[in-house]
Amino acid sequence: MNIAVCIKQVPDTTELKLDPVTNTLIREGVESVLNPLDDFPLEAALRLRETLGGRVTAVTMGPPQAEDVLRKAVAMGADAAILASDRAFAGSDTWATSLTLARVLEAAGPFDLILCGKQAIDGDTAQVGPGIAAHLDLPQVTYVTALRCRDGALEVARMMDAGTAWLRLRLPAVLTVLKDANEPRLPSLAGRLRSLTFTPRRAALADTGLEPTQAGLEGSPTRVVRIAVPTVRRRQERLEGDAATVAARLVSVLATRPGPTGEA
Ligand SMILES: Cc1cc2nc3c(=O)[nH]c(=O)nc-3n(C[C@H](O)[C@H](O)[C@H](O)COP(=O)(O)OP(=O)(O)OC[C@H]3O[C@@H](n4cnc5c(N)ncnc54)[C@H](O)[C@@H]3O)c2cc1C
Repeated sequence: MNIAVCIKQVPDTTELKLDPVTNTLIREGVESVLNPLDDFPLEAALRLRETLGGRVTAVTMGPPQAEDVLRKAVAMGADAAILASDRAFAGSDTWATSLTLARVLEAAGPFDLILCGKQAIDGDTAQVGPGIAAHLDLPQVTYVTALRCRDGALEVARMMDAGTAWLRLRLPAVLTVLKDANEPRLPSLAGRLRSLTFTPRRAALADTGLEPTQAGLEGSPTRVVRIAVPTVRRRQERLEGDAATVAARLVSVLATRPGPTGEA
């Protein structure tokens, strides 16, 4: 089975700093790591390869230093890696990101399976996996919590509001894999050594077949108009007295609080 895993480099912090003028993340001085939720699709791909044979290719779009996350994927066991990097990709929104990744995957494939994480911890939209499926016109299953091979077919468990649905897949397909799916392995010593000298394949705008107007900021239909860190304000009041007094006070407090839609 030929499997691609999309992985993203993200800032190694939960306290993101935002540039108030450009409305972009301040990345200077912040260490970068592999998006923690991308370990799980990577592990799922490696396990499928161990069962069925084939190849695992890690793919990332980002600046040149995003090569680091590809090295981690190789250290974990990926066979190949592609770095989609070009100044023309800068400023991509989720539409342009998923379109660019789709074209890179199309050129490097064919892949039987394309795996993504649930979401990136910085952008946080969970749109890129489904976006890739849409651009490639492939079936997709999101919220995958388990994968198994049965009677020569791939079956996946999808987390539902109430319970789990097992689905049998027609390949090729795109999956977004949740952390419930597996326990990611640590890189082996052999893998680490291989990653030190490994050079990923590069993909630039010219390799995607996209026009400059379809990539990066120009190809992004969304604009970040304003961005802010939410301020949490808590007003505390201790209710004291017997149960009837406390209950009555609680009811009157709740009655004056705005609801989720703003109404009192
Ligand atoms: C107008 C605009 C401008 C922007 N400019 C920038 C910018 O200059 N620099 C910047 O870093 N961000 C920028 N962003 C944010 C950027 O669009 C998103 O970070 C990016 O599209 C991925 O979306 P996400 O982080 O929500 O990923 P999600 O959709 O939450 O990620 C889901 C999964 O998709 C895969 N995935 C996501 N991104 C990638 C990737 N790059 N490579 C491989 N796999 C991936 C991973 O498997 C991940 O787990 C911009 C956004 C907008 C709207």
